[in-house]
Order: sequence, then structure tokens, then C-alpha cells
Amino acid sequence: MDNIRRGNKQLIKELNRALVINTILNYGPLSRTRISEITDLGLSTVSNIVADLIKKELIYETGEEESSGGRRPILLEFNCNDRFVLGLKIGLDGIIIGLINLKSKILDKNFIPSPVKQDEKMILGVLIKAIQELINRNHIMPEKIVGCGIGVSGFVHQKEGVLVSSKILGWKDIRFKEILEKKFSFPVFVDKDVNTLTLAEKRFGAGKKIKNFICITIGKGIGAGIVINGDIYHGSYGGAGDFGHIVVDKDGPLCYCGKRGCLELFSSDQFIISKTKETILNNENTLLRVLLKEENSLDSVSVEMTLEAAQRGDVIAKNIFQEAGRNLGVGVVNLITLFDPELILVGGEGIKAGELILQPMRDVVINNFPHRKEIRIIPLQFGEDGWLIGAAELVLGEVFKTPIFKSKGKVAIKSAFHW
Ligand SMILES: [Zn+2]
Repeated sequence: MDNIRRGNKQLIKELNRALVINTILNYGPLSRTRISEITDLGLSTVSNIVADLIKKELIYETGEEESSGGRRPILLEFNCNDRFVLGLKIGLDGIIIGLINLKSKILDKNFIPSPVKQDEKMILGVLIKAIQELINRNHIMPEKIVGCGIGVSGFVHQKEGVLVSSKILGWKDIRFKEILEKKFSFPVFVDKDVNTLTLAEKRFGAGKKIKNFICITIGKGIGAGIVINGDIYHGSYGGAGDFGHIVVDKDGPLCYCGKRGCLELFSSDQFIISKTKETILNNENTLLRVLLKEENSLDSVSVEMTLEAAQRGDVIAKNIFQEAGRNLGVGVVNLITLFDPELILVGGEGIKAGELILQPMRDVVINNFPHRKEIRIIPLQFGEDGWLIGAAELVLGEVFKTPIFKSKGKVAIKSAFHW
């Protein structure tokens, strides 16, 4: 899908076009004169580009600008509801899929609970059906879909759009891009789920305007999206940010990833659940035992149950979250040592306990970096919708990509899209 075009005339035309589109998208509604002033392009060049964009229904004329006298200039606005993007998150519990407009607004979404441990070959069929259903129920022509972004947990070969392996999902070598592009006419982009959430924060959330930050998600697994100099760091094989699997105890228990003593074993949902069970089995005097009596079986122990006990003031339940928070803090200290970020964002379903986990985490960080009070550790701005907005951003980042300028006076535009 990628086209690299060279040659001055064509190149300049594309650069100018990209400039006008981005200007209207980011600052619209604007008059032709104002676009000319912002972009430094001649008024006739702007008018020609605008005429073509109107013809393609990418922008439209809307109202008139206030004017002190003379003819009032017509304003132009980006038509963000004429084309759409699909955003997907594939997780252990199921698939969330969203229909998103070109201004990153979620118009419709659906959740497909999936016993993810099912045959990995089936997942592509489930995805195809989910995409078709969402398109159909919104009465959208498939050619109006600009692209599809997928966030999935595991090692992702981004360029090939392949999930190389995912220990938590139990899958390997799923060729999302190849198969879905054969089925549909739009391009497909794939990245690690935590990276898509990080993209959402980078574009619209707390990470906006911050060059170096790390986004940590805690849930069934623990991951980190690392932003260095404004870009997500993927590593050589798409495995960067596998934060849950840094070793914090070399003699610790065996992890499902094959290593021993991974951070995830000491701070994820699983840790909370096993600690809760241990507490109940030890017959400790805690509200947890009362709550369990209502539910009966040890199998029914959940993070929500422990959280309820903690919120009702149970000290033992509180301690479980605080211990998880301190353990995470140790991991965060290592991240700060390695990457020196300005901001750490923490989110995911695992931090429903909020400050119960975050404060002990901060305490460990402050104890280790007493002179670095400027490091902020705060919750992610986006909730669940962040996964979808971020997945869509995989596409929109390409659509509205600023052209790449190359060295030695040569310039090239690299884009999968041609409006
Ligand atoms: Zn591990």
C-alpha cells in the first residue's frame, strides 16, 4: 500500500495538499484567505486545492466569516463524517470494535465476548463478522472506510501487521493485515494494544506535548507504551514495553512466559486474587471471608470483591492492593532509571482501586528518587474508549501524516492514502 513518490512537481502538489487538509482539519472552519496566510501558499493555489477537495466531499463550505466590510469570506470545514475508521482491541475477554469519524469521535461501538482461548484460526472469522456487522448496522458503504486499526496484546510485527506471538492469548503468527486486506478494500494497521492506548494519550490526553513519557496498563497482564522523543518505541522485534515480564525476583515463581519472578506475578489481577485466596485460607479476620460466604466458592474470588472489602475499610484487603502498588513501584523505578521520562501514566482495568495502588507506587518512586519530585505518576485520561481511539489513530496518523523530509535536499512523501 505504501507509495513513495519522488519528482518535484507531483511532490510539491502533494505537500501542498497535505498542508491544506491538515490546516482545515486542525484549525477549521477557515476562509481561503486565512488558509493562505497560515500555510504561506498563494491564494490561487489554495483555491485550486480547495475546489478539488470540495469535489471529493472532503471539505465543505459552511457559513460566512464576520467581516468589518466588503464581501464576507466563506468558511471551509473538514467533512469528518463522510469517511470513517474502524478501531479494534482484541483482548482476553473479547473484542471491542468502534466506528470512528475522522476527528476521532466514536460513533458506534460493539463488544463481542469471545472465549479467546478458542482456535486462533477462528479469530479472523470473528473479526470479519464483527466488522461487517458494524458497517451494516450503520448503513455505511465499505468504500467509505478509510482504514482499520487493531490493538492486540503480544509481540507485533507492525509493518507486516502480524501478531508474532501472544503468551497471554495463547496465539502465534496471526496475519491480520494480509487476511483482512484480502477481504476488505481498506488498509489494516496492527500494533500492540498498550501502544494504541499510548497513541490516544499522546494525541489527545495527558501525553499531549510531552516528548518522553510511559503509559502503563494493568489488568490481566501488565504492559507499557514507551514514548521517546514524541514517537512510540517498538524495539527491534515489536517486543519493547513488555513491562510485566521484567524479572524482579530471580528465584520467584515460574511465569507463563517461561521466566521466573516476573513483575506481573507480583502486581497484576492474578496477584490480587491469589493473595485474597491465601488470606481467606489462612482464616485471617477479614471482611473478605464474609464476602466470600455470600459467594461461597474460592473460585468466585475476584478483584472486585477485594476492592469492595478495601473500600468498606478492611485493612487486610487494603494491604493487598498496597502491596501490589509497591511491587509495581519497584518496576516503575526501573523504568525511570532506564528511560528518564517526564510523566508516567497508569491505567487499565487493574487500577479500579485507584489511589490504593497509585499512592504506594508513588511512595516507592519518591523513596528511590528523592531529588526527582518533578516526575508525575497519574491515571490515564482515557478509559476503555482510549483503546478504540488509539487503534483508529494507527490509521489517522497515516492519513494525516506530515510529509517526510529527507536529507540532501531530497524529499519524499510516504503515505498509504490518496485523497
Ligand atoms: Zn513473565
